[in-house]
Amino acid sequence: MSNPIPLLSVRGLTKRFGGLTAVSDLDFDLEPGEILAIIGPNGAGKSTTFNLICGAMPPTAGTVTLEGRRIDGLQPNRIAELGIYRTFQHNMPFKGMSVTDNILVGRHARRASSLWSVLLGRASVAEAERAARDKVLDIARFVGIDTLLDADVTTLSFGQGRLLEIARALAGEPKILLLDEPAAGLTLSECARLFDLIKDVARQGISVLLIEHDMHFLLPLTDRIVVLNFGGKIAEGTSSEVRANPAVVDAYLGKLGAASENVGAFHASR
Ligand code: ADP
Ligand code: MG
Repeated sequence: MSNPIPLLSVRGLTKRFGGLTAVSDLDFDLEPGEILAIIGPNGAGKSTTFNLICGAMPPTAGTVTLEGRRIDGLQPNRIAELGIYRTFQHNMPFKGMSVTDNILVGRHARRASSLWSVLLGRASVAEAERAARDKVLDIARFVGIDTLLDADVTTLSFGQGRLLEIARALAGEPKILLLDEPAAGLTLSECARLFDLIKDVARQGISVLLIEHDMHFLLPLTDRIVVLNFGGKIAEGTSSEVRANPAVVDAYLGKLGAASENVGAFHASR
């Protein structure tokens, strides 16, 4: 039996910047363990949609509910505590810190509860510290960067840095992971690794909402796609439905052509 309340529900979501409507009356749902992509041309409102869901800015109108509870207008740290974590279009490591400490930063939102159990005498500081380090190791193994834990983040390759961003987000124990163009700039083998990682994350029951331009990467990855143009939803469906939709081809897919990244070839290489 399917759950009557979606994990995440976006209704009438609208964001205006002065006279510009960046996101316009947007509706969509996200279910547990689902991989949902948001696609569309540059300026379509994809990143703004992420910003509204994560609390980086309040919507002009509309609602975002997580498990039936309104979260629009809440502060970003509160939304993270409730289980929504994101990565950005550009890697943002905390320089001068090890990979381990960068992942530990992601546990920040959860740390308050472990601090309380220390203060209440339920756990020693050493136990809490050890539990945190064990968790970091688990996540690093899951993501595939466990051999890099002691490295300074400035020594990581671009692709390793991208995996670190995802590890840091997973450290918050999210229900929903938002990835903004995760495949951009990755090599073919890094793309293949990312593809498998996103599938593994979803298999753990974590929902993935992603923005991505590379259709060769995206189409076999996602369960469902929402297509935006000028802030509004012009289509929603499975990969094959969206690919066959003339409005989507006209607004977006037909214009990708030669602009498609070389990462597209990764699928043929598998
Ligand atoms: P996408 O991620 O799909 O490329 P964005 O969500 O970044 O699109 O942007 C949608 C529109 O909103 C664009 O026209 C962009 O210039 C505008 N925009 C985004 N953020 C701001 C902001 N903070 N202030 C004013 N305009 C913005
Ligand atoms: Mg964007």
